[in-house]
Amino acid sequence: MNIFHGVTLADFSTMRLGGPAAHLTEIHNHTELQEALAWASAQTLPVIMIGGGSNIFWRDEGFAGLVLVNKIVGYEVFEEDEQNVYVTIGAGENWDSVVARTVEAGLTGIETLSLIPGSTGATPIQNVGAYGQEIAQSLTTVEAFDVQANSLVNIPATDCGFGYRTSRFKTTDRGRFFITHITLHLSRGKLQPPFYPALQQYLTDHNVSDITPATVRQAVIAIRNSKLPDPALVANNGSFFANPIISQGQLTQIQADTSLTVPHWPTQENLVKISAAWLVEQAGFKDFHDPETGMATWAKQSLVLVNESAQSTAHLLAFKQKIVDAVQAKFGITLQQEPELLP
Ligand SMILES: Cc1cc2nc3c(=O)[nH]c(=O)nc-3n(C[C@H](O)[C@H](O)[C@H](O)COP(=O)(O)OP(=O)(O)OC[C@H]3O[C@@H](n4cnc5c(N)ncnc54)[C@H](O)[C@@H]3O)c2cc1C
Repeated sequence: MNIFHGVTLADFSTMRLGGPAAHLTEIHNHTELQEALAWASAQTLPVIMIGGGSNIFWRDEGFAGLVLVNKIVGYEVFEEDEQNVYVTIGAGENWDSVVARTVEAGLTGIETLSLIPGSTGATPIQNVGAYGQEIAQSLTTVEAFDVQANSLVNIPATDCGFGYRTSRFKTTDRGRFFITHITLHLSRGKLQPPFYPALQQYLTDHNVSDITPATVRQAVIAIRNSKLPDPALVANNGSFFANPIISQGQLTQIQADTSLTVPHWPTQENLVKISAAWLVEQAGFKDFHDPETGMATWAKQSLVLVNESAQSTAHLLAFKQKIVDAVQAKFGITLQQEPELLP
């Protein structure tokens, strides 16, 4: 186990902000994980596990504990028949490479989750989703080290507390489980419409009639590349706010008060999901570049906050607050932040 000290955490967040970590190490297997936890425990240090840093940003104060960067690899098909394939994947595998591999094998289940940055082990944390699929729909089991029980556990998907961009790992059991592997149930079945509207639109516009996991992956990659910044080139955490879910009554009231038609989609009974990007734009933040904080909204997708020249996490938080306050004043809705501020 190789432990580094005084590491710049800005290098471990795609937003590229934050102070130093007292200690940081990479985890490649169960043994290293247990050694690292014992090392931290002996010094009563707090521990945080991360993957690719694409959904986190760090406090300017940094973290006075041990950061574990998950690098556990592996991809094992352990059961299959004509229709079903079960595959167990190491938490440190790059997620998009995993999607590419399943698509190349002609499997369906996660193809619309193409090009989501980060690691495989982080996908259950906020139940990653895009273009009509969520990891919750394909996941069967999470293998994790439970710091409360001090042992490895297997958690069935039904016990993960999945919801829209959330799970027990992000809420009630935050910090309790270090995910080491996940198991997915994929299938060889044909893809059936209806597809997510933006995806369907792309397939229609480009006359894609041969609808396979591979052509859907290509379509999703093309759509995402046309509107999202590449975190390797532009510092960002993807969507910074979740789409608010409000009651039908609240929607009617907002539309009456503002004389605006709010873009929305039905969700659970009597509830609607409304477009956070639209709210941000209506509040005056479309393609907005803020000289005070060095932050901006991405011209092609207003939900993405980009770090153009911010000097600190305090600048990012100040910019976020400007947007939250403006949306609150205009619509009475409090936007919820999607990426996590650590620690
Ligand atoms: C350009 C861009 C586009 C994006 N698009 C989408 C999208 O379409 N849909 C979507 O849902 N998300 C999207 N995201 C967010 C992000 O890619 C996902 O949340 C991704 O799963 C984060 O993976 P990561 O490895 O980078 O996690 P990190 O950012 O490193 O960590 C995220 C959280 O998970 C925890 N964590 C990470 N690994 C483990 C582990 N092995 N065990 C326990 N806890 C762990 C961390 O402590 C932290 O709480 C996007 C981000 C960017 C930058």
